[in-house]
Amino acid sequence: MRISFRNKLLLLIGGLLAVTLASSLLAVMRASNTAVESIVRDELEVVERVFRSLLEVDREQLRGRAQVLAADFAFKRAIATGEQATMLSVLANHGERIAADLVVMLSRDGDILLSTHDVKRLPASAADVLREEATGGAAILALFEGEPFQLVLVPVFAPDLMGWVGLGTAVDESMLEALRSLTNAEITLLAQSGGEPARMLHSTLPEALSTQLQALAQPESAPTSALAQARWVTREVTLLNEGDARLTALLSQSLEQALQSYAPLRQQMIIIGCVALLLAFLTALLIARGVTQPIYALVRAARRIADGNYTHRIELRSGAEFGMLAETLNLMQDTVSEREARIRYQAQHDLLTRLPNRSYIASAFNSRLSEPNAASDYAMGLLELGNLRELTDLYGNDFSDSVLQAVAERISSSLRRGDMAARIADSQILLFFDALTHAGVDVVLDKLRADFASPLSIDGIPVRVEPLLGFVFAPQHGQGFEELLRRAQIALGNARNVKHGYSFYEIGQDENHLRQITLAHRLQAAVDAENFRMVYQPKYDMADHRVLEVEALMRWNDPELGEVYPDEFIPVAEQTGIITDISMIVLRLVLRQIQAWERAGLELTVCINLSGADILQLDFVRHAIHQLASSGLDSSAVVFEITETMMMSDMDLALANIREFEKVGIRLAIDDFGTGFSSLAQLKTLPVQELKIDKSLVLRLDQDKDDQQIVRSTIEMAHYLGLKVVAEGVENIASLRLLQAMGCDAVQGYYIARPMSAADLETWLGDLPVPVLAIRGEPA
Ligand code: C2E
Ligand code: CA
Ligand code: CA
Repeated sequence: MRISFRNKLLLLIGGLLAVTLASSLLAVMRASNTAVESIVRDELEVVERVFRSLLEVDREQLRGRAQVLAADFAFKRAIATGEQATMLSVLANHGERIAADLVVMLSRDGDILLSTHDVKRLPASAADVLREEATGGAAILALFEGEPFQLVLVPVFAPDLMGWVGLGTAVDESMLEALRSLTNAEITLLAQSGGEPARMLHSTLPEALSTQLQALAQPESAPTSALAQARWVTREVTLLNEGDARLTALLSQSLEQALQSYAPLRQQMIIIGCVALLLAFLTALLIARGVTQPIYALVRAARRIADGNYTHRIELRSGAEFGMLAETLNLMQDTVSEREARIRYQAQHDLLTRLPNRSYIASAFNSRLSEPNAASDYAMGLLELGNLRELTDLYGNDFSDSVLQAVAERISSSLRRGDMAARIADSQILLFFDALTHAGVDVVLDKLRADFASPLSIDGIPVRVEPLLGFVFAPQHGQGFEELLRRAQIALGNARNVKHGYSFYEIGQDENHLRQITLAHRLQAAVDAENFRMVYQPKYDMADHRVLEVEALMRWNDPELGEVYPDEFIPVAEQTGIITDISMIVLRLVLRQIQAWERAGLELTVCINLSGADILQLDFVRHAIHQLASSGLDSSAVVFEITETMMMSDMDLALANIREFEKVGIRLAIDDFGTGFSSLAQLKTLPVQELKIDKSLVLRLDQDKDDQQIVRSTIEMAHYLGLKVVAEGVENIASLRLLQAMGCDAVQGYYIARPMSAADLETWLGDLPVPVLAIRGEPA
């Protein structure tokens, strides 16, 4: 258990005082005990003196009465006669006047003539007195028949010494009582005679104690020790010690009784002690509070600081040390809060532009959403500096940093209240427009244009920045920050491709985008598993009226996405760069198929679509040539279809590579002719043998005069250049007839056949009467 400082202090002060008080009380009690004891001892000395003088007085009275008796004439005569009877009658006459317990008559020689008690002889002391023949007589204390008596012996003269008369009084209870009432002390008489053990004669002590004394009266010291045990102070007075006769008086006084007078003093002391103890506790409590209160205040303050509350100042009025500690805590709290603010600022801001960073604007955005009266409409504009890259290349990083700073400054200064700007990527600044709808965006655009209308001046160099902007509008374009930002990125991506440099997100674009991401993932899995199959679409030769060639087209059935068509996945494969892997798979599958057909006696040329990315890689070109060579097939077994637009990005490289094909005698066809910006003039320079007119020009050929015009002149020009012409997308007989009339060399389209599996193709070819046009009941 932990004892608090305050309680320790209380215990210490209280304990100290209690010990002091208790020991002084004890000392006082001890001192009073010894004082009382010595007073009692002194008192007992006085009691002894009183006792002795009481005996003395008693003897003097006896002596007086004995002398009266000795002077009595009749008595003298009786003694002279020596007759006992006469003596007794004289004594009887005196009777009351004598008032003695013992009467004795002695002859002049000291022989006992008469005695009231059985006295054989007098004690030696008495005999000595008689021998001296003292006229004043003698007084002795002696035991007669075991009882103590005071005996006074007076000579009787007539006129010569006739004898002695003795009067005695018993030292008995009445005498002891008299002494007790005089002195307040208790008296016990002990006698011993004839070698017998001491015996108690009388006692004024309370009965219980006297019986105890009687029982213990055996050994010499026992009586006093018994009294001492009962807290009595005893004084032993020897009254007689003659021969074997001993008489002792025990004078005793109760210590308890004597101390009784001190009891009120003791009580007072205890009361004073208790009051002092209580006062000490109260004082200790006050002191402890004085010490612990500031400590508690400091502890509370430290806890507040730990909780991140720095606004509270600690004010302490007690003690210099505590005051100093409080001041230090205040100082610490100031420094901590300052440092925390700085750290927070750094965590929430971009240090270059001093704009909030992405995480800060995200949380600001979210807390705005939770505001109850926030406008429901808002917009985000993602701004990118289109030419920042070039500026960096031209003038270096420091320069483009300065450009960003200047741009951030311009934007921040033109923001409305409630709007925000944050730098969320190296060259991107996100603008948040509160309460802005699509309808009101023109105002914002005008303002932004105005911001960037005049060139910035960086290090004295005038810089014109080209901002690109992608906009999203909430709630129609999404709700969450991340979702809106992603869609703004899509809009920004579109803005890069338009002349005016801004674009608004359109619903569905994001899903499209997401679909492309999924496709990219799944496509990789399909490549790893080689999960593709090929279908083949016949190409009908108009001159031969036969199918001599087929086009190989890919099919992909994904376990998760289902059937995905090449129009969708080929562009994704091109973007992710996986297209070349796919083309290698296609090449392998097709070569294997041609070999199989060759073995079956079916001679077909297969047209394979290649991507621009394939053509631009010499490695792939060499690989394709090698594959074909090692398959043992003739180079005329395949035709590679390539699109012109794909080669445009690096025409020289593309040309160099396709010349490799030309070298080994592989034929090439220009696919999708008529869709790009390609010109027939350029075809002259390309080592191609065939031209495929895109289906967009063919599908509605029978109805569209313009298409007819284009197709006709294309065929003429191609023929002029020595190229074979194929039209794809022939869906009806009318178009077919037109193409035939225009001199088109071959046609491909649903009217002839849809793309089909190798097995289906074989059946289809087998069933096919020649010529095809005749089968369909049309004139050739
Ligand atoms: P493409 O090279 O122009 O192929 C012709 C496309 O037109 C094929 O579509 C074909 O099914 C379709 N088509 C043929 N006749 C008709 C018709 O009468 N009417 C209509 N509406 N369409 C017709 P598919 O198979 O969906 O292929 C689309 C594109 O995907 C191809 O256009 C080609 O550019 C690309 N592609 C297909 N397979 C491969 C391949 O193995 N490798 C590469 N690199 N691209 C391929
Ligand atoms: Ca094609
Ligand atoms: Ca085409």
